[in-house]
Amino acid sequence: MSSNEKVIQADPTVIAGLDNYRNLVAAQQPTWPDQDKLEQVRATLAKYPPLVFAGEVDILKDRLAQAAAGKAFLLQGGDCAETFADATADRIRNRVKTMLQMAVVLTYGASMPVVKMGRMAGQFAKPRSSDTETREGVELPAYRGDAVNGYDFTLESRTADPTRLLQAYNTSASTLNLIRAFTMGGFADLRSVHEWNKGFTDNPANSRYETMAREIDKAIKFMAACGANFNELRTTEFYTSHEGLLFDYERPMTRIDSRTGTPYDTSAHFIWIGERTRKLDGAHMDFLSRVRNPLGVKLGPNTSVDDVLALIEKLDPDREPGRLTLISRMGAGKIREALPKLVKAAKDSGAQPLWVSDPMHGNGITTANGYKSRKFDDVMDEVRGFFEVHRDLGTFPGGVHIELTGDDVAECLGGSEHIDEATLESRYESLCDPRLNHSQSLELAFLVAEELAAK
Ligand code: PEP
Ligand code: MN
Repeated sequence: MSSNEKVIQADPTVIAGLDNYRNLVAAQQPTWPDQDKLEQVRATLAKYPPLVFAGEVDILKDRLAQAAAGKAFLLQGGDCAETFADATADRIRNRVKTMLQMAVVLTYGASMPVVKMGRMAGQFAKPRSSDTETREGVELPAYRGDAVNGYDFTLESRTADPTRLLQAYNTSASTLNLIRAFTMGGFADLRSVHEWNKGFTDNPANSRYETMAREIDKAIKFMAACGANFNELRTTEFYTSHEGLLFDYERPMTRIDSRTGTPYDTSAHFIWIGERTRKLDGAHMDFLSRVRNPLGVKLGPNTSVDDVLALIEKLDPDREPGRLTLISRMGAGKIREALPKLVKAAKDSGAQPLWVSDPMHGNGITTANGYKSRKFDDVMDEVRGFFEVHRDLGTFPGGVHIELTGDDVAECLGGSEHIDEATLESRYESLCDPRLNHSQSLELAFLVAEELAAK
């Protein structure tokens, strides 16, 4: 072996081509004013422990393969943008409880295992339609998520600060720690279905949940009387995901797994590429094609058949089960028109991606009183359209991707509490896109369960 070869082998990241993205166009990256500080932060991040373990990532890939094959369903949910300030015990608990409740509604209603995945513990960076924001004649850099800059509309707060990447890591670590404690330590025990409903304000969705929880209780008591062993019910798997946006975070978090010698992005179990950064020859596609995590790609209403075929080829050339999730976000008025040709083309190509509906991002509106909102009825209609399309084509509608919170906010219009435009003024908290609140999330879960059961 020549000494040259030895050098190459000593640095497997070079072999993996992980830095090839540097030669390509990287959309949606912040302008960091202090490059030295940025390099220090990257070096520090690269030494921090991984947030997830490659073995867990592989298990998730198996679970997603099950969903792609029609034997499980993915529930992916959480904030549009997590914030450092909201990474508190109460708020994390409410989100986890909401996800557990939705999962139980789906599992019970559709008799199908549900893969639970949060847009949590890492969803701190946002793509923006404009680099700047202007208020009353003052133009400042746009807010790009807590990992990049602050939301306050001052030059100091809006200036990108790389030390925020370290805070994003630390906040992700503490959030993930609490999620693991809740889901492994007894809180997620299926015998606590009633407990998860406590602390939320009364509403029709809650009562419907209570009724279902009583039925589950009865079934569990019956099984207990028959001598069933409930160890399996004590804990649950819960995975993390976020948009893989910032190279200065994702690259240092990418490590070579000692078991397999291959790279994993250890910032989360699942990473998705957004509608704005999925250019085939762009940096995001290149970088993420080289990590072993299961990947998602968001598909807007203008996605072409060629786009879908090319991205399958790029991200999943080996047609590995569970590797690729395609997340359609078309809008209620467009999905029935725009989705079928994509699903059909993927199917005809022999690929079996997991198809997931994001019924949020194609349904944005601005209300008369100036709020970014979404109509709950549009969200529900897009979900219905998603199921219709798959029913017609004989493919499996494998999951939903929802922006939600466990808190009692008023950001999306409608639902059984009839949230109207005036109510948005009192309980709108999101710094980015509007989320379903606790009761709207439960309501949506009931609809999805019905659609799945009728499939
Ligand atoms: C998001 O998920 O918050 C987002 C920006 O989505 P999309 O890439 O689909 O627009
Ligand atoms: Mn969003």
